[in-house]
Amino acid sequence: MPLLEVKELRTWFPVKKGLFGPTRYVKAVDGVSFTLERGEVLAVIGESGSGKTTLGRTVLRLIKPTGGKIIFEEKDITNTPESQLRWYRFSTAMVFQDPFSSLNPYHTVQYILEEPLILRGVPPEERHELVVKALEEVRLTPPEDFLKKYPHMLSGGQRQRIGIARALITRPKFVVADEPVSMLDVSIRAEILSLMRSLQEKYGITMIYITHDIATAKYLSDKILVMYAGKMVEYGPFRDVIKEPLHPYTQALIEALPDPDPTNRFRTRRVPPGEPPSLINPPPGCRFHPRCPYAIKGKCEKEEPPFIEAKKGHYVACWLY
Ligand code: SF4
Repeated sequence: MPLLEVKELRTWFPVKKGLFGPTRYVKAVDGVSFTLERGEVLAVIGESGSGKTTLGRTVLRLIKPTGGKIIFEEKDITNTPESQLRWYRFSTAMVFQDPFSSLNPYHTVQYILEEPLILRGVPPEERHELVVKALEEVRLTPPEDFLKKYPHMLSGGQRQRIGIARALITRPKFVVADEPVSMLDVSIRAEILSLMRSLQEKYGITMIYITHDIATAKYLSDKILVMYAGKMVEYGPFRDVIKEPLHPYTQALIEALPDPDPTNRFRTRRVPPGEPPSLINPPPGCRFHPRCPYAIKGKCEKEEPPFIEAKKGHYVACWLY
């Protein structure tokens, strides 16, 4: 049985035009499905405004879904009231994007790490030991040098290590990491990602890794889900999708990766032309059609492509398949 099953998940936000105008909906997540086995890592990829952060927050039930299903350990938690979600809160955690604002500036590192343990009723004599171990695990040593420090006394990389330690100190089964390295210096991104991978493997944590950068996903991911304008356009094993991307949008994202060969005189960073569409009024048919170089006239702008299994375990939503 998978740890997590997400079926046709929708998160729509109502917006009113004027005081008496009609209600319209920002369809941030619009029919997303996937499964995660225990210990698997799913990369969710997409540009800003593709709905990937909303998806992560909805799966954690920080946002209430509009429709679909979230099943965790065979329990349907889609509409479970907050008062009955305590066990789910204790089984899950989030690593935030911004290490500069996600830690309380008035608390010491010691308290920041102890707080989730206090909430779970861990006795004081055990807490200190767990905090020291957590600092060692994220390679902030010697731990005594960090316990009394405040977030402003730490570098961005050190703060994100604290963010990771805080998320993992209670040994959650499932973690959502939302662009955890995008605000860090390029030189330390790989280090933080490989730290996350080693802790994820050590504790068998199931994870969703949200990013706009496919290049960073390779450090962590077993599966990949590509989102465009609230829809999932491709989903499958990470290696298969990277080796042979099927959807023109995924192909464009991979082509946009910088060429590691500095001697290549054609080395350019190509990005998919155009802008992502509005989520209030997305284009009809395939939402990617205004930017797609392979759009089939008379079809793609009218009919929405179904999500099909094009190869074993490799799914795509595109009329080319
Ligand atoms: Fe391009 Fe048509 Fe495929 Fe959409 S369905 S990605 S417009 S070819």
